[in-house]
Amino acid sequence: MIALPLPYRGRFAPSPTGPLHFGSLVAATGSFLEARSRGGEWLLRMEDVDLPRCSTAAADEILHTLEAFGFAWDGEEVWQSRRGAAYAAALERLRAARRVFPCACTRRELADSAIAPDGAAIYPGTCRDGLPSGRTARSWRLRVGDARVGFDDAIQGRIESDLVREAGDFVLLRADGLHAYQLAVVVDDAAAGITDVVRGADLLTSTARQIFLQQCLGFATPSYAHLPVVVNAAGEKLSKQTLAPPLDARHPAQALVAALRFLGQAPPADLALAGVDDVWRWALANWRLDRVPRGPLPFPVA
Ligand code: GLU
Repeated sequence: MIALPLPYRGRFAPSPTGPLHFGSLVAATGSFLEARSRGGEWLLRMEDVDLPRCSTAAADEILHTLEAFGFAWDGEEVWQSRRGAAYAAALERLRAARRVFPCACTRRELADSAIAPDGAAIYPGTCRDGLPSGRTARSWRLRVGDARVGFDDAIQGRIESDLVREAGDFVLLRADGLHAYQLAVVVDDAAAGITDVVRGADLLTSTARQIFLQQCLGFATPSYAHLPVVVNAAGEKLSKQTLAPPLDARHPAQALVAALRFLGQAPPADLALAGVDDVWRWALANWRLDRVPRGPLPFPVA
């Protein structure tokens, strides 16, 4: 019997830690157009698993901005803050399979460890074979072993990762009792049946860990396409920390056309003067993923 390919299902997954900026618009636009141009669904997930950093005001503002920009998502949005039971069940399965272990180490105790590309400490293995006597568990970590992960990214090409050197045994349940972002993303993408992840290349360092975790949990691995990172004039990724200006929901057409240009598409010069519906009509008819550059690229363009 021939297995039919699953119908395309993509998603946009903003973290409500602040308003959307041009980098978020690029991720939303790229994932939306790729999904719709392939006749697929496009889901929205609020990644508010890291509760102390998120706010409902930011989430409301994100929803409002997405609507003003003409994004339409399928079904109800998913809120990670309401999915704790699903994350706990996945962690329990990993516990039963002895793929995770309790860890007593504090951040200070790990301060001398090597640093991963995403800035986190690479775990030196202190508690891997059992908690040192007299210590209690603070967090739970996934046993990485000697895992290597490779995947073909539709934009960035072949990516090979040595998880031991790039991440080490990473945290799935944090010392503050919250589930880690990596666990939440993997459980949510699998639960939603996501077939294709299109997101910013700043998340490329997370992808190998997520694929490894999918394998540990017996989940299918989606296809990946990582869009170019948007950097400012100083070469820093646009983010709340680098004071990226929020999107202006009153002028969506101009910003959308700028996002299309950034993504290597060639919108006509006067499209920015059109209404937002016309911009989407053009974008849906002309979208080509193979035109998207690898980046990183500056914005605003000099
Ligand atoms: N919540 C993440 C962010 O805003 C995106 C995660 C993802 O797309 O997998 O950077």
